[in-house]
Amino acid sequence: MSSAVPSSSEIGTVAAAPGTRRGVVLVICAPSGTGKSTLVQRLVAEFPSFSFSVSCTTRAPRGQEREGVDYHFLSQEDFLSRRERGEFAEWAEVHGNFYGTPLAPVQEKLRQGVDVLFDIDVQGAMQLKESFPDGLYVFLFPPSREELERRLRGRGTDAEDAVLRRLAGAAREMGMAPRFDHWIVNQDLDTAYDELRAVYLAGRSRPENKPGLLREVLDTFASEDA
Ligand code: ADP
Ligand code: 5GP
Repeated sequence: MSSAVPSSSEIGTVAAAPGTRRGVVLVICAPSGTGKSTLVQRLVAEFPSFSFSVSCTTRAPRGQEREGVDYHFLSQEDFLSRRERGEFAEWAEVHGNFYGTPLAPVQEKLRQGVDVLFDIDVQGAMQLKESFPDGLYVFLFPPSREELERRLRGRGTDAEDAVLRRLAGAAREMGMAPRFDHWIVNQDLDTAYDELRAVYLAGRSRPENKPGLLREVLDTFASEDA
């Protein structure tokens, strides 16, 4: 981890704009093929106000990827100088490229009451937890290796060597699962979705995400004290 990543005391508590709730940080990690995209699509369809954190990366754009939508595509030099300036809430090197989460846009969205979803790897998720300890960190499990292999092959997007690499990576990623706060097994999709939805709604109801609420309601009692 880089010393250039700001500490939680500097950024962990994000104030909310007056009259709004504070947005929720939702991080979902899963071995590739588990069904994360499927569940996230469902969540965003039900709660369209979610915003995705747009990462910076030094890798080149692929296919239809757009600057500022899928990623901010940076030169290595630009990435490293931003990292030095402490502009990333977390960063990681994945397959020889750098990836990082810009801190300021996330803070601003949370302040405005916008919930933010992250698509980052497990190392990044655990770094982000230091910056945003109030976030919701969900680890999604496949029911078994056999089923994960079936889903990876069924998806039909990966060559044989990539399927084997992803299966090997799955065991390693699950080794990090004890550091996450919520565990969901994606066996039956509807059941997994209900659990994910419940985690999100419970997170929204936390007092730190409703900063003005107590004051607002107490104020309505104030005239009775007089
Ligand atoms: P990820 O984003 O985790 O890599 P995807 O959402 O692309 O995974 O899902 C991988 C494959 O598994 C897809 O073909 C998807 O339709 C299928 N899938 C997802 N959830 C389930 C489930 N609960 N039961 C059976 N198949 C599933
Ligand atoms: P890809 O290059 O295929 O888009 O992403 C490769 C990996 O990098 C994925 O596991 C993705 O979750 C991860 N990733 C993307 N953005 C970030 C980021 O900002 N931080 C971290 N730590 N990982 C990221």
